[in-house]
This record gives sequence, structure tokens and C-alpha cells, in this order.
Amino acid sequence: MDLRRLLPEWIRTLEPYPPGMPIEELERELGIRGSIKLASNENPLGPSPKALAAITDTLRNLHRYPDGSAFYLKRRLAARLGVAPEELVIGNGSNEIIELAVRTFLRPGDEAVMANQAFVIYRMVVQAAGGKPRIVPLRDFTHDLEAIADAVTSRTRLVFLANPNNPTGTIFRRPAWQAFLRAMPRHLLVVADDAYAEFAEDAEYPDTIRERGNGTVPVLTLRTFSKLYGLAGLRVGYGVAPAAVIEAIGRIRQPFNVNALALVGALAALDDEEHVRRTLAVIREGMAYLGAAFRRLGLSYVPSSANFVLVRVGDGARVYDALLRRGVIVRPMEVYGFPDHVRVTVGVPEENVRFVEALDAVLRG
Ligand code: PMP
Repeated sequence: MDLRRLLPEWIRTLEPYPPGMPIEELERELGIRGSIKLASNENPLGPSPKALAAITDTLRNLHRYPDGSAFYLKRRLAARLGVAPEELVIGNGSNEIIELAVRTFLRPGDEAVMANQAFVIYRMVVQAAGGKPRIVPLRDFTHDLEAIADAVTSRTRLVFLANPNNPTGTIFRRPAWQAFLRAMPRHLLVVADDAYAEFAEDAEYPDTIRERGNGTVPVLTLRTFSKLYGLAGLRVGYGVAPAAVIEAIGRIRQPFNVNALALVGALAALDDEEHVRRTLAVIREGMAYLGAAFRRLGLSYVPSSANFVLVRVGDGARVYDALLRRGVIVRPMEVYGFPDHVRVTVGVPEENVRFVEALDAVLRG
């Protein structure tokens, strides 16, 4: 086998996303028990109980293919968001919609503009399609929309924005977003990845579904059930865009890309207001607790509009490893170019306390 000839150069040079080890394996290896995972920005309260009930009810129908049109979920989302069902695409996680957008609109050699320290999947998916990522530095840990607009060329087909951004938790605000839309040419698609939108409380946080300037540049907004709704393991997210964009993406979407349990679970979770309210309260309270703890420990951190926070700990890899040995799993940040930070997801109060105590102990040496 001649892999060099078999593999396109852009696949040969692609660095795969590093998978985490299952928690059980880690514990076995390190000889510990009862560790807590604050590494993937998941909902610390668990899945919505309403979603669990709907999923249980659907188990008996697993011999059937899922509804490939996602009829009920789209209808419910459309009513809630004030859009038409034709303006919605449901994905196997919002990750899949990122991939579908790239495969739909990017030819090999085309460019996609993105921030240097934004969700790593953008860069990987663009490279996997033979595209050229054009990377723009953050400014103050935040998307620099002016610099991103300046990086757009006639070869640009996609611009990726994460708001709030992962891993920094920062947001760009309404005036910057409006100015950005005015600066965009018409030959590209803006992907507004709002995976953490529901956590943002800033009055100037732009709703990219409703606020799309005068509509000359198409915007694809991405949302997910993985964070607020606590359904990361099910894999379901959605995109909102003009019907023509959705129609184009629909041409390459697999007919059964979203499984039957995900469809009913997402539908039920949307209406679980109690679970949403409790989640937001836990995140708000936990974020305040962590901020106060970092200040007490003399650590600088990036004020966050999401359910995680980037904190500067010195040698991030060492701290990550030492925390791991104490059963606290956070996310090291070398891959994101923040080697002296770790990213921690807000947990339930006991988890936050345990993290802070472990961090304190680790930093004391
Ligand atoms: N976008 C951002 C910014 C994220 O942080 C994540 C999850 N880590 C995703 C998209 C993907 O979420 P999912 O595929 O679970 O919907």
C-alpha cells in the first residue's frame, strides 16, 4: 500500500483530535476512585428527566429507522425560534453541521477564516476538506471581528465565529457583530457557533438568529443540546440559516443522521423548563464561586459568559496531571495555545469545592 499516494496531502498532515480516556480506565490506571469530570463543558446536573422519560418510551421502537425529516423537533424549534422549519437543519451534534457546512460550500483550495484560539474542530474540518484555514489572533482572549473581516478574501467561503468562544468563554457584542455583518461580502457564509448561547447573560449579547443585519450575507447559526440541555451523549444539535442554505446542506446530509432517541430526547428537553432553570442557576452560582476562589488564590482568569472558565495556573500540563491524580479532570490547553492555562467546566457545588481544594493543594506544591 502506498499511503503517500493514496492519501491527499491535507489528510496526511491532519492532526487528529486527541480522544480522552474513559474515566473508568483512568481510575484503574491511577488507582483512584470517585473522580469528577469538569473537562468537556457538560451539564453537571445530568440529562433532563423529561428527555430520559421520552427516550425510555422510544426504546421499544428501536427496530425502526428514525424520522429522517426530524418533523416534530423542527416544528417545535421553528415555533420557539420564530423561523420556518425550512430554515432548520438537525445534526448529529452541532459538530456534524460544521462538517456539513464545510463539505457543502468549500472547494479544495478555498479559504475559511477563523480565530486562532476558537473551537479546534473548525480548523480540522476545513483541512480535511482540502480547504485553507486563515487564522486570526484573538484580542484580549476575544474574537477580533475587525481583524477577521480584514482577513476575508475573494477565496473565502466560510467564516467561523464562536460566541461565547470555546475555550475562552468570551463574547463579542452587538455593535461589533452589526459592523461585522456590514463589512461582509456576499460570496461567503458566516457560521455563528452559539453552542453556549443560553448561558450568556450580557445585555449586549447578539442573538445571531434574529440579528442578521440586512441579510445580504447568509448566516448559519449553530446551537446544541449538548450543553444546557445535558444531552451531549445523544449527539444532537441544530443549525438555522436561510432556506436556500439549508436546502444546499440537505443535499449531502445522510437521511438518518440523527438517531431516534436523540430526536425525542431533544424535543422533550426543550420543554423541560425546570431543568433549564436549575441548570442556569447552578452555573451562575458556580461561576461566581470559582471567580472568588481564583481571586483568593491570586490566579488570573478570563471572565466567562459560558459554563466553563479559563484560568491561568502556570504550567498547565503539570497542573492538569496533578489534578488528575487527585481525581479532578479538567482540560489542558496546549492544543489551544494556552500552555499556562487549564479550562474547567462549572460543576455542582461539591464538585467546584473539590476542584478548588485540589487546585490549591497542587499549586502549593
Ligand atoms: N461548538 C463549540 C464552540 C463547542 O464548544 C462544542 C462542544 N465542545 C461544539 C460546537 C460541539 O457540540 P456538539 O457537537 O456536542 O453539539
